[in-house]
Amino acid sequence: MRVFISLVWLTMLSNVQSVPAWYNAQRDAILSTERLQSIGSTLTLSSDEEAVNSIIFRTKQMDINGAINDDSNYIPAVHFFQGRKRMEQSKVFEIIQQMPKGAALHLHYGSITSNDWLVKNVTYRPNCYMCVKQNVITLTGFYLTPPVDKDCRWLEISAERAKSRDIAMFDQRLYNNLTLTVDNPEVVYPSINVIWKRLQQYFQTVQGLFLHSPVLKDALYETLKEFHEDGVQYLETRIGLIKPYELNGTTHDFTWTVETFRDVVNEFKQDYQDFSGAKLIIAGRKTGNTSAILEEVKATMDLVEQFPDVVLGYDLMEQEDVKHTLLYYISELLYPRTQKSNLPYFFHAGETEWLHIHGNNLIDAILLKTERIGHGFAIPKHPEVMRLIKKRNIPIEVNPISNQVLKLVSDLRNHPAAILISQDFPVCISSDNPAPWEALPLSHDFYMAYMALAAPDDDLRFLKQIAMNSIKFSKMTNREKASALQQWETKWKSFIKRVKDANTIVYVG
Ligand SMILES: [Zn+2]
Repeated sequence: MRVFISLVWLTMLSNVQSVPAWYNAQRDAILSTERLQSIGSTLTLSSDEEAVNSIIFRTKQMDINGAINDDSNYIPAVHFFQGRKRMEQSKVFEIIQQMPKGAALHLHYGSITSNDWLVKNVTYRPNCYMCVKQNVITLTGFYLTPPVDKDCRWLEISAERAKSRDIAMFDQRLYNNLTLTVDNPEVVYPSINVIWKRLQQYFQTVQGLFLHSPVLKDALYETLKEFHEDGVQYLETRIGLIKPYELNGTTHDFTWTVETFRDVVNEFKQDYQDFSGAKLIIAGRKTGNTSAILEEVKATMDLVEQFPDVVLGYDLMEQEDVKHTLLYYISELLYPRTQKSNLPYFFHAGETEWLHIHGNNLIDAILLKTERIGHGFAIPKHPEVMRLIKKRNIPIEVNPISNQVLKLVSDLRNHPAAILISQDFPVCISSDNPAPWEALPLSHDFYMAYMALAAPDDDLRFLKQIAMNSIKFSKMTNREKASALQQWETKWKSFIKRVKDANTIVYVG
């Protein structure tokens, strides 16, 4: 089976007393039965892929071996804010960054476009204002004349920048106002409630930028560009039923947003022919009252009918532990069935440490026939839920860094998705809100999945399968999927060749 595994095992076995052959045979039987169940384990690699595997897997082993006696510096075991720079210097990350990763299926519009672009592009536009309270930007927006606000002071950003003595420092201050990254996250964000509040503050601060219609168009294009550069060829993003505005204050309805989204995606596909596309999932908030959610459900039913190629279905999101449950909205969520209609759902569920409190959202998500499960962090605590997910093959959108930053788990080796991955559950990896915590669209999360959620001896097969899973579990049409998979295979071959060629010299002589 795996040459490298046996090398590790030999090294470890050499430190213990001699093991009887019959015992070893029984031991190996259990090990290989387990290993053959994990994601990617049944794939066969070509000789070129084996060459690349030898590079990325050897490097993974070296990093793990270096952490076995002292794991205090093992990158997935420390907070992303503290380990990110070291991760970016690692060979494993360098290769993963180049890898074609397929699709990103769990994202939120408004937190997937880099802060760099917001600061260096959007805030340089005329009529862009910020509302400042005690040196913190609480709101932003484009205005001919800014509103009068008793809670904060509206200032035109370009005018303030022109007045400042140091433009680089001014921009850095803007950036620092946006990012959630800090050197000491355990002190600044001591609890789940604190970090969630900070994330919500991020959305509140930037929404005035993203809702300005020219920015919305450009941000969509920029997002696709950033994802494409990070090896993502297709994405599905959650979005609220927003009302974008023009400078004169007039607003657009959501139909305009969908049409704009479709136009921008098509324009991007023209410019980047190896890009497969992007679609929308409408997401309401579990803070809304029942009648508001019913209106959203009805609106989404209409949108899915009107734009079946763009709008996929409906989701409800929010901090799961403290907001309403899916059961709270059960009449509204069952409404499509009373109309003999099938509205596809894509529920966030099980994004919690609790069992049988809010963790029961998983049960409702399944009963409501969710197409995929967002996060599913609590799944392994529910044996019957696990059985049903496996039986019905319901894909799970796992977001490792989000779960760490939002304090469900600190050491990512303890992430429950490791259990799902070890049993070949339908898992794909996504990034949720990469921009507020300065993650790349997918590379950082893929690194964490490879180094911590997968087993130490999971190799290139895991990465290959997890990328293919993302295309398979997307909601592209069958024809779109076939074409996307073909595009991915072409990219994969050239990635394998590139990594092999670039590293050959290291192994010669
Ligand atoms: Zn989410």
